[in-house]
Amino acid sequence: MAWQIAAPRRASTSLTLRRMLPITGSARGNRKARDRNRSGSMQDTDVLIIGAGAAGLAAAHALMARGLSVQLVEKEPHVGEPWRQRHRNLTLNSYRDLSTLPGVAYPPGTPAFPAREAVVSLFEDFVRLHGLPIAFGTEVRQVRRDNDRWIVETNDGTRSARNVVVATGRDRVPHMPDWPGHGGFTGRLLHAAAFGEAAAYAGKSVLVSGAGNSGFDVLNHLVRARTGPIWLSARSGPAILPKRIANLAVHKVSPFLASLPTWLADAVIAMTQRLSLGSHARLGLPPPIGGGASRLRGDSIAIATDDGAVRAIKAGRVRVIGPIRSFDRDSVVLEDGSIVKPDVVIAATGYRTGLEPLVGHLGVLDPRGKPLFNGAAQDPRLPGLWFTGMRPDLRGCFTNARLQAEAIAAAISASRRDAKARRVQLDSGAAH
Ligand SMILES: Cc1cc2nc3c(=O)[nH]c(=O)nc-3n(C[C@H](O)[C@H](O)[C@H](O)COP(=O)(O)OP(=O)(O)OC[C@H]3O[C@@H](n4cnc5c(N)ncnc54)[C@H](O)[C@@H]3O)c2cc1C
Repeated sequence: MAWQIAAPRRASTSLTLRRMLPITGSARGNRKARDRNRSGSMQDTDVLIIGAGAAGLAAAHALMARGLSVQLVEKEPHVGEPWRQRHRNLTLNSYRDLSTLPGVAYPPGTPAFPAREAVVSLFEDFVRLHGLPIAFGTEVRQVRRDNDRWIVETNDGTRSARNVVVATGRDRVPHMPDWPGHGGFTGRLLHAAAFGEAAAYAGKSVLVSGAGNSGFDVLNHLVRARTGPIWLSARSGPAILPKRIANLAVHKVSPFLASLPTWLADAVIAMTQRLSLGSHARLGLPPPIGGGASRLRGDSIAIATDDGAVRAIKAGRVRVIGPIRSFDRDSVVLEDGSIVKPDVVIAATGYRTGLEPLVGHLGVLDPRGKPLFNGAAQDPRLPGLWFTGMRPDLRGCFTNARLQAEAIAAAISASRRDAKARRVQLDSGAAH
């Protein structure tokens, strides 16, 4: 059977805005860009940003604050579509005050882990507060180089820019393994992106494949519903941290963790996991391949958050089993040859960037579609091409988006200053 992706939902809550300094330079830069557009020529700008998620919005703000002209293009009709599509009961795993954008805050009384609707509202308020220039419904199809410009082909015509910032998200395309026999499975097979609501699994036996961040997110919700038996199919033991320890939001300490060398962060994560949740052996999970910080920084594998799943594993409500080998009609065959017969299989098997059609021809992606550089890093052969939000960070995507945005904006401003200085030098050389 075919697998499914959830349909979009609308969401709204109101937020308080905390006003900060107005972005004066940006208004100037964008007025120049608008004037150029009115002339009917191909739309040209200092920086074109693709994607209005946390990464793209933060980048636009940081660049505009430096007086650069910015265009932001977003394929959806509004901001926050990835969050709108996630399941209704989703709350952040990252701590409220580390999950904001410059100048906006969650309203008083927002819990430590805001709901996804609050995130969407935060984005909407951010766009309003800073007057960000977003062309909605504009999908970028390809980015290519032409002399000193980047040419961006969209469903709405061609644009050009000196710099392009790709902020299309690292979890854009749900990844489903090509398990032998999965097409003939008589149960329901879906990706975790289409999880929906836990209540919909009442009375059903469910196998969750993948013990990473999204596998634990699904389990945290499933164990609260009146499901039948639940299995967790795990290939390797994940790094897991509890969402709270005695009412303390564990993610609050992530800036401290992020400041540690990787080996020390690994040790702190492993010790916290062992003391608060128990060893992998105790949970019946396979041993981990590496430390939590090492895997996050090296392999882009986020740390799983426990919010009830571990207790359910210890209580026997969730049974840990080995990896899936294949499907056989109503059965799932495991690598050790044993068989389970779940009603539903949820593949919590990760995401891909889906960047191949956009930039694959530039040779900037690894075999899994992940950009080879991110943030302020560049390929000297491709000046002006930037990626943001393509690597996970212990501090979560919002804080990371802000840091990457500042780094990219500083690098673009510096290269503009250098180019100006070179022009002045050339002009004065010519005058002598
Ligand atoms: C279930 C789940 C729970 C999560 N919980 C947390 C959490 O608690 N805390 C946390 O920090 N992170 C969390 N994450 C991770 C987080 O959602 C992402 O890391 C984050 O969304 C990245 O932001 P972004 O701006 O890079 O990408 P996105 O939010 O994916 O935004 C990218 C934008 O680009 C647009 N776009 C894509 N392609 C094109 C194109 N070709 N042309 C134009 N526009 C385009 C998209 O429509 C989208 O609006 C979670 C992820 C999942 C899957």
